[in-house]
Amino acid sequence: MDSILKQIQVVLVETSHSGNIGSAARAMKTMGLSQLRLVNPLQPIDEQAIALSAGAKDVLEQAQTFATFDEAIADCQLVVGSSARLRHLQSTLVNPRKGGEIVMTQAQQGKIAVVFGRERVGLTNDELLKCHYHLNVPTNPEYGSLNLAMAVQLICYEIRNAYLELENLQKIEKKQPLVEYPTAQSLEYFFQHTEKVYRALGFIKNDAMMPKIRRLYQRTHLETTELNILRGMLSAIENHRNK
Ligand code: SAH
Repeated sequence: MDSILKQIQVVLVETSHSGNIGSAARAMKTMGLSQLRLVNPLQPIDEQAIALSAGAKDVLEQAQTFATFDEAIADCQLVVGSSARLRHLQSTLVNPRKGGEIVMTQAQQGKIAVVFGRERVGLTNDELLKCHYHLNVPTNPEYGSLNLAMAVQLICYEIRNAYLELENLQKIEKKQPLVEYPTAQSLEYFFQHTEKVYRALGFIKNDAMMPKIRRLYQRTHLETTELNILRGMLSAIENHRNK
């Protein structure tokens, strides 16, 4: 499953501040993503970037740098661009949750680029045109522009949610060893055994108690191994009394 996350390439286009690259690396790593691509960064990965990456220095060390946007996305089968201003791109616009699902679905087949723009001006129209889908975090319409690394964090979080969802599905499909449940007849023997032991102990004195005990056990939908424990406990009581 982890290899799926490696298919996802986070692409930062012409980032001005190296600190933002470091913070973005940290945001990625917290969400399990590791593949960072930089398009013509205005500052190189420097001390500031490393300081802000905290424990995600490895993401920076592995980061690949490209001269152009086209080169950075060349080997990707799906390109998703993010922007604070996308109102005009209605047909390809998806919210981050849906975007995460699309990314995860496609990541099972090939590399995906998730692209983030420049701090001041975002992505150019030409770059946005090269994206299959456009992601917009539905922020305050009056002040909607997120800090670059925070946009990376939010979008990577949605990718992670979709990843966890997929992981869960695959676990279910793998069919964990099936739990075995006792037959109605074995349960019946157990109830008879219970009644016999507790009548002998003087705890059950009338017919009102057994239906209550039955209801209690039925509600838990006992597994076979659990039923065996209970029967063992009854036998231990009997053995003790017979001593
Ligand atoms: N003034 C620029 C802001 C760029 S912020 C603009 O309006 O585009 C830097 C990058 O962070 C953006 O290019 C985008 O990739 C991401 N970003 C910021 N706010 C976002 C939002 N609300 N939704 C999606 N991405 C966002």
